[in-house]
Amino acid sequence: MGLFHCPLGAPYYDDDACIDCGLCYATTSQEKVGASRKIKEYMKAHAARTSAVSKVAVCGKGGSGKTTAVALLTLALKEAGRSVIVIDADESNPGLGRMLGIEGEPQPLSDLFREDGLFSERERFGMDDIPPGFVSAVDGLRFMAVGKIRDPFQGCACSLAESARQIVEKLDLKEGEVLILDMEAGVESFGRGVERHADTILIVVEPSFESIAVAGRIARMAQGMGIGRVGAILNKVASDTLASRTTQELEKQGVKVFGVINYSQELAEAAFEGKPVKDGVAVKEAGTIIAAMQGW
Ligand code: SF4
Repeated sequence: MGLFHCPLGAPYYDDDACIDCGLCYATTSQEKVGASRKIKEYMKAHAARTSAVSKVAVCGKGGSGKTTAVALLTLALKEAGRSVIVIDADESNPGLGRMLGIEGEPQPLSDLFREDGLFSERERFGMDDIPPGFVSAVDGLRFMAVGKIRDPFQGCACSLAESARQIVEKLDLKEGEVLILDMEAGVESFGRGVERHADTILIVVEPSFESIAVAGRIARMAQGMGIGRVGAILNKVASDTLASRTTQELEKQGVKVFGVINYSQELAEAAFEGKPVKDGVAVKEAGTIIAAMQGW
């Protein structure tokens, strides 16, 4: 293995994940094309496909509207009869709980993993095993948060990301339950492998060059992790033309589009005020996105 960006993240897995595609020591364009082909075939054959959407990580560039998308998907999943568990895995932004109508914050999960040795050593756990102080419940929704960076010199966010990674890996869901994670903006969580055990990656994309570029990187990293259901939601879309141009650019990068949440004044005001979203049209759009994910 050379010192080279590996699309499978092989150098960072505990086990030996190198498939000897040759990309990291290819010198000619012919060798690079051959290696890329091997990687694509490997990803296609090994993408983890599950029949039900159960662990969904919502990612994207900062400001693309992940939090609003999570709130809308939560409402749509509840309408579809699913029992929704939302995790705020964003170490910076504070607004998700408010947008879901949660009053007061649950204790951070990072405290649970740090302070309860017995819990952190569990190989698997269910929602019933998580102490009540770490879960806020409202109207059939359960909400947890990994914690926030609040103070200068508090330290790095690794322990927060590690809590999210453990939840995604170890939480056993009952039939009908679905876990949605609002991830940190950008690709850092992928560098930490937080999403490795998710079955669905939803990339929220606003119509902008940067957002599309970040979406391409996220999709490649997610596919490199072996996640089979990876796609985009277009958000804050103000016209059909922008929707179709953004879709075309994403498709050039191999990113499938699950659906569109069009710009609406009501959504923009809810985001501005940090209030629960109630836009019926947008919830319907989120329902269409869920149906597209399930059919993937
Ligand atoms: S999988 Fe390919 S790119 Fe990754 S380390 Fe192995 S040879 Fe290099």
